Amino acid sequence: MKKLVLLGGGHAHVEVLRQFGLRPVPDVELTLISPDRLTPYSGMLPGLVAGHYGFNDAHIDLEPLARFAGARLVQASAKALNAARRNVTLDDGSTLDYDVVSIDIGSTPPLQGIAGAAEHTLPVKPVKEFLATWETFVTRVRAGEVRSLAMVGGGAAGVEVLLAMQHRLTQTPLPYALHFLLITDTPQLLTQHAPGVRATLTRSLARKNVTVHCATRIARVEAKTLVAESGARIAADAIFLATGAAAPQWLATSGLDVNDKKFININKYLQSTNHAEVFAVGDCATIANKVYPKSGVYAVRQGPPLAENLRRFLCGESLIDYTPQPRTLALISTGEAHAIASWGALSFHGNWVWRWKDQIDRKFMGKYRPPWRSP
Ligand SMILES: Cc1cc2nc3c(=O)[nH]c(=O)nc-3n(C[C@H](O)[C@H](O)[C@H](O)COP(=O)(O)OP(=O)(O)OC[C@H]3O[C@@H](n4cnc5c(N)ncnc54)[C@H](O)[C@@H]3O)c2cc1C
Repeated sequence: MKKLVLLGGGHAHVEVLRQFGLRPVPDVELTLISPDRLTPYSGMLPGLVAGHYGFNDAHIDLEPLARFAGARLVQASAKALNAARRNVTLDDGSTLDYDVVSIDIGSTPPLQGIAGAAEHTLPVKPVKEFLATWETFVTRVRAGEVRSLAMVGGGAAGVEVLLAMQHRLTQTPLPYALHFLLITDTPQLLTQHAPGVRATLTRSLARKNVTVHCATRIARVEAKTLVAESGARIAADAIFLATGAAAPQWLATSGLDVNDKKFININKYLQSTNHAEVFAVGDCATIANKVYPKSGVYAVRQGPPLAENLRRFLCGESLIDYTPQPRTLALISTGEAHAIASWGALSFHGNWVWRWKDQIDRKFMGKYRPPWRSP
């Protein structure tokens, strides 16, 4: 029996589990390591925060999926990997040997660059921690403990989550005005999107009285205060953070080849560039010399070729190429049941765009709910 370990229940690994259930690979002992049985789907996270979805709508249950794939689900977090010895150390101190490992453990916002961020901000990732505090936060707002809320990060995640929070918090009339702020170090919001997307979003933010600070790099966070590099101080009772993606720290000491930002370097087969028996996908990995954003769309698209290459590698067959698509469709929700579509230079928006996004997201989630039927 060959030991295949799937590390993390990310967007690509759910597809690997489904594929291995549909077409089992003989003589393979499959193990999935995930700290949580329920793994969040990022596309529905803003809708969950806004109150359009319930918790189960936006989470995939890994237990039935693992059972279908014939995998053992180990509920734990990896805290180290030794590529030379081919083993993974879990947070309970135990180690697990592998013949082949696939890593899909996502990313976290980079806290190191902002002094005081770890103590005084709430990052939107890990999603589990963010959601665990969100409902308590809603209660605090309703009790009048929070009057202003700032989001640091002007990319799609920061904007969507801020507008979702505003939508949810303003559904119940409050006896005072709640002030929302959006802060980014870039000259404008959503720099990776077309001017039409930015224009629609800017109008929406203005209509909703969100104060936007562009070109404002936050150097330090103190209790209820953001301090910009320029020395400007911005007060906010609660500070959230969605400032991009940083690599899980232990990857750098795993012996795997990593890039300058400590993400795992992979080749076109989604394989570590220095350990052929290690595959890595999603936010935690980058194809050497390719530029593409850290986004769930890429992690999802990597699922089928990853499943195919794991199967082929285990069977000693030649691997297939994966090429990241040059552009992707982004559907950015704006709090209420409304969204903006961004496709290259094109953009359009409306309630129908939100319904379209909702259909795509529900279809995606449907693939990972039982029953599954083998062909
Ligand atoms: C608020 C928000 C909204 C977003 N919206 C979108 C969107 O609409 N569209 C889009 O394309 N992208 C979106 N993104 C980006 C998207 O979340 C990520 O790019 C995507 O989740 C990456 O998928 P992944 O499979 O790499 O990792 P993840 O989805 O993060 O999954 C990683 C999994 O690994 C587990 N894990 C983590 N560490 C360990 C460990 N040490 N050991 C074992 N398991 C571990 C985690 O519990 C998790 O289940 C959004 C991000 C945020 C923060």
